[in-house]
Amino acid sequence: MIWNKAIEVMAREDLIKLQENKLQKTLMRCQNTPYYRNIFKNNHIDPCSIRTVENVKHIPPTTKEDLRKGFPLGFLATSRDEVVRIHSSSGTTGTPTVIYHSSKDIDTWSDLVARSLYMTGVRNGDVFQNMMSYGLFTGGLGMHYGAERIGSMVIPIGAGNTKRQIWFLRHFRSTVLHIIPSYALLLSTLIKADGLDPRKNLNIHIILLGAEPHSEETRRRVQDSFSAQAYNSYGLSEMNGPGVAFECIHQNGMHLWEDAYLMEIVKPDTLEPCKPGELGELLLTTLEREATPLLRYRTKDLTYIMEDPCPCGRTHQRIARIQGRTDDMFIFRGVNIFPIQIEKVLMNVSEVGSNYRIILDRDDFKDTLRIEVEIIPELFFGDLLRLERFQERLRGELRSEILVTPEVVFVEPGRLPATEGKAVRVIDQRKL
Ligand code: ADP
Ligand code: ZN
Repeated sequence: MIWNKAIEVMAREDLIKLQENKLQKTLMRCQNTPYYRNIFKNNHIDPCSIRTVENVKHIPPTTKEDLRKGFPLGFLATSRDEVVRIHSSSGTTGTPTVIYHSSKDIDTWSDLVARSLYMTGVRNGDVFQNMMSYGLFTGGLGMHYGAERIGSMVIPIGAGNTKRQIWFLRHFRSTVLHIIPSYALLLSTLIKADGLDPRKNLNIHIILLGAEPHSEETRRRVQDSFSAQAYNSYGLSEMNGPGVAFECIHQNGMHLWEDAYLMEIVKPDTLEPCKPGELGELLLTTLEREATPLLRYRTKDLTYIMEDPCPCGRTHQRIARIQGRTDDMFIFRGVNIFPIQIEKVLMNVSEVGSNYRIILDRDDFKDTLRIEVEIIPELFFGDLLRLERFQERLRGELRSEILVTPEVVFVEPGRLPATEGKAVRVIDQRKL
C-alpha cells in the first residue's frame, strides 16, 4: 500500500535532516523573490544562518494579505519562462491569490497526490470520477494529475450537473469519487430521488472528501449512504492544492507530507508553538516548490498534531481533521462557536436530511441564532406532537454542544439553497 517507500516510512531523524537540507534550498530560492528579500533585509535575517527547522520561527509568517499585496510578481522565485501553470484560490474570503508552478512543481505535486491516493487504495484499475471544479481551483487538475499518475481512468467531469454525474456513475461504473462533503450528501439524496440505491446500484468503493471542514459524523453518513470508505483530503491552493495531508486506511488523522511541507502549529494570537494535541493554527513552509516558495504561510486552519504512531507505519506526522478556519468562528452572546460543532450534532441524527444553514441576526439589540434544517420527508406526514418533540430534542442536543439554545426551524428536503462548490453555512446578518 506504499507508493514511495523510501520517503513515506523514512526514520524521523532522516526525515528531519532531509527537511533541513530542503529548507536551506528553499531559503536560497526565496532570495530571488522581491517579497522575501525585503523581509530578510528588514528583519536583519541572514537566510544562511537558518539551518534547523526550529530556527524558522525567526522569520515573520506570510499571510494571504501579503500574497495579495505581492501580486503579481512579488513571490515569483524563477523567471517567467519557467512557469508552466498558475492556480488561484477559490476566493472564499476575498480577492484570489495566485501561485505559479514550474514544470518540476507540477511533477512534485502530482506525485504527492498519487502517493496520497495510493495510500487509500486507489489503483490503476479504478475509474476516478473527479467531481471538483476544474480551472483555477486546484481540486480539479491537481487531483486529476495524481490519479492519472497511478494509471486510474479519470473522468474529468467537474462539479455540479447532478443528472450527468449520475449518468457517468452508472455507465462507467465509477469506483472512486473526489467530492466536496456537502455535495456528497446532496448527491446521495438526489440519486435516491432518481429511483436508484447508491449502495446497491453503483460501484463506488472510495470517496475522497476535501475542500471544506466536515465532521466525523458527516464522513459516516457519506460512507453509509454509498456503502464506501470515505477519506479526508486536506490541501490549499497556496500549498499547491490537494496532497498536503491525507488520511490512510486507518482513518485516524491525516498524514502531512513532511518531505514537502514543514509544519508548525501555533496559537493564533501570539504565534507561540502549541504542544502536540493542542489546537492551534497550522503554518506551512514549502520545501519543494521552485516557482513560489512560501515561508510559514498562515493557513488559518485549526488543527492539532496527533503524536501516537500510526499502525500503517508511515512516519509523517498526522494532523487531526480541520476544526474550521480562524475566521469561520462566530461569537453568539459571548460564546465562541464553530459551524462544525453544529454540523456534528445534526449529522448524527437520522431524521435530519442533507442540508442546513445557520442564520445570525439582531432583533431589538438582541442577537438571535436560527438553524434551518432539512428533515426527511417521512416526518412531514407524522403527527405534530412527534415533530415538536423531535424539535425539542434537537434543540437540547445542540445546546449541550454549543452551550446556547438556538431556534430550530424545519424545512422540506431541497428547500435550502445548495451549492455545487463549497457550502455557505453561516449567514451573519448582524453586521448588515
Ligand atoms: P479558499 O481559501 O479561497 O477557500 P482553497 O481552494 O485553496 O481556497 O481552499 C483551501 C481551504 O479549504 C483550506 O485552507 C481549508 O480551510 C479548506 N479545506 C480544504 N480541505 C479541507 C479538509 N479536508 N477539511 C477541512 N477544510 C478543508
Ligand atoms: Zn497511517
